[in-house]
Amino acid sequence: MTKKGQIPKAVRTALHTRSDHCCEICGKWGNNAHHRKNRSQGGKDVLSNLMLLCGSGTTGCHGYVTEHPAEGRDKGWCVWSHQKPAEVPVLYRGQLVSLGDDGHVYVLPSNTRKVRGNNGASLL
Ligand SMILES: [Zn+2]
Repeated sequence: MTKKGQIPKAVRTALHTRSDHCCEICGKWGNNAHHRKNRSQGGKDVLSNLMLLCGSGTTGCHGYVTEHPAEGRDKGWCVWSHQKPAEVPVLYRGQLVSLGDDGHVYVLPSNTRKVRGNNGASLL
């Protein structure tokens, strides 16, 4: 068993392999695992539920997602407790993808779901 609050090493290693150690939102170097669905809401330590982000809980993309939950849900960086992370498209370095538990990043057709900011402009 791993300690509470820790992502199992194998999952963390796979997350770093998938992301190539770079933030999965902006592409800068990243080292912070983000749960799309919080553990407190039943989110699991699986690759579909995790994104490697830059920053921390208060800085970089991780801080941004934490401070902008509505936008995060719009872009799939955060999911509701009733949603399955693997089924929610994610804006991933500017592309709409779905994340598989096997570590694959599936690029979705560009017309799958429009991802727009509040002012109608694409934010990434
Ligand atoms: Zn970033």
